[in-house]
Amino acid sequence: MITDLVQIKRLGEKKLKENEMFRRHMKAHYFPERQFRHVAEDIESNTDCRACANCCRVAETNISKRDIERLAKFLGMTSNQFVEQYTTMSVQDENEIILRRNDAGCIFLDGNDCTIYEARPDTCQNFPHLVRGNGSIQSRMWQMIDRATYCPIVYNSLEQYKEIVGFQMGMKK
Ligand code: SF4
Ligand code: SF4
Repeated sequence: MITDLVQIKRLGEKKLKENEMFRRHMKAHYFPERQFRHVAEDIESNTDCRACANCCRVAETNISKRDIERLAKFLGMTSNQFVEQYTTMSVQDENEIILRRNDAGCIFLDGNDCTIYEARPDTCQNFPHLVRGNGSIQSRMWQMIDRATYCPIVYNSLEQYKEIVGFQMGMKK
């Protein structure tokens, strides 16, 4: 299993096209869901996210109304105060509200620690959405191509998925 973040970035970017073809392959065929979940669970349980925290540095953090209410309560402020102080609009999707960011990533990241861990947004609790998430893994695959460039759980899971289904670059859909 590869955990080095420099390698993950290099390999994930090198495999962008391959992973896009793999996504289409997954979409075009039926595969029992359980095997993918087991692989991701196994990789996730062997990964120390506290030592990584790369998603907090790299990815935007979408937040819901429910997250805002929970976080405002946790920080002892009103929802409006929280929105004003800690949120901004996504640069990737103009309809999404995200947590503010600074040069180090998420505004609540301190070193590798989340300073609001107990009340962190749902998306952080479920990240990278391979083990926990709505819909089938096949339907979530489009998000995984980018995530495989910075998340060791996703990169290693995709590599094992390819082995399970016998996927090779260049094979017909
Ligand atoms: S809220 Fe915490 S877990 Fe979520 S991105 Fe920010 S630092 Fe990471
Ligand atoms: S979810 Fe992925 S990117 Fe985030 S801390 Fe865990 S291994 Fe690192």
